[in-house]
Amino acid sequence: MTSFPKIKNLTILGSTGSIGVQTLQVVEKSDGLFNVLYLTTNKNIDLLAEQIAKFNPKGVVITDYGSYLDFKSKYNFQIETYYGEEGLAYVASAEEVDLVVSALVGFSGVVPTISALESGKNVALANKETLVAAGKYISELAKKKSAKIIAIDSEHNAIIQCLLGEEITRVEKIILTASGGPFLNSSPGSLESVKVSEALAHPRWSMGKKISIDSATLMNKGFEVIEAHWLFDLNPEQIQVVIHPESVVHSLVQFVDGSIKAQLGPQDMRIPISFALNYPNRLRYDFPRLDLLSITTLNFYEPNTEKFPCLRMAYDALKLGGNATAILNAANETAVSNFLEGKISFAKIPKCISYALEKVEHNVNPSFDEIIEIDKITRKITQNFIDKLN
Ligand code: MG
Repeated sequence: MTSFPKIKNLTILGSTGSIGVQTLQVVEKSDGLFNVLYLTTNKNIDLLAEQIAKFNPKGVVITDYGSYLDFKSKYNFQIETYYGEEGLAYVASAEEVDLVVSALVGFSGVVPTISALESGKNVALANKETLVAAGKYISELAKKKSAKIIAIDSEHNAIIQCLLGEEITRVEKIILTASGGPFLNSSPGSLESVKVSEALAHPRWSMGKKISIDSATLMNKGFEVIEAHWLFDLNPEQIQVVIHPESVVHSLVQFVDGSIKAQLGPQDMRIPISFALNYPNRLRYDFPRLDLLSITTLNFYEPNTEKFPCLRMAYDALKLGGNATAILNAANETAVSNFLEGKISFAKIPKCISYALEKVEHNVNPSFDEIIEIDKITRKITQNFIDKLN
């Protein structure tokens, strides 16, 4: 017997970003099963205004104060309007909210995601930096509050689907697939001179800027290893990365009897988003279908960590534990924004990160406040290193 799912009230943190926009597309196609309660943006007030007109939320948050003032003077919506981190914390934990879609970029997603979990909300998580920087704290908090974290990230979403009806103790390892990014076949020497536009041109997925650069360095995959560690409680040795340029197999689980389950699908983030929104149910959607007959070959091979050291550094940081992954995250975020501003070359990104990992003091058991502190310190140290380079 199928029971009718109840209507879920949503807060979408980061509704004007790539995942936020696609989440709203899923909502539109969901036959009224979702009620959009709160939307948030950093600065994109015009797109936010379009979203308000279409989805009629109860309220919005504009993180950037200047943009908040612009919004108030330019538009005249009769809705709750908040700004800043306090606003984000409020809409992430407001009483009527059933599910929080966490789709902010980078470390800015950590605190609002914690507010959601603290008030026992289930979280559809697209912001992997949350688990990279504060995975131990976040996973313990979710357990304590019996709040579910359903990953939107296509690889982890694939793993969740493969694990339906399975015991985690029967998992031998998981295999995360990686497209390899735009420089998969470039010579190591050529990485010094790549342009920002080349690094942003991901061959398979259309994504935001920061994650596109992380995909080009393979740091994104390194983050996903750390994310998987906290989501599925697996050792680093149980998490394998394989390059799979076709991006048809989104990830796989190998069980103790030698059986492997994989999840396949078109490269459309709306599919993992819809799975996360409807979990544990499945709904019918008219997203593109995968035509198996059009696929001639599927390739899998080992990643080259000499050419892409970020992946190796992520494994090392995870094994080191404590605040090492928070340092990794903060140094990466700083290096990537400097690359996007044209201040350092692509090849310097891993150099900045390894510098920070060496320089910032390691702490095996940091409190959450210490993680916030280490994030700030690491950004400063990495920025000083970059300023000296130039
Ligand atoms: Mg991914």
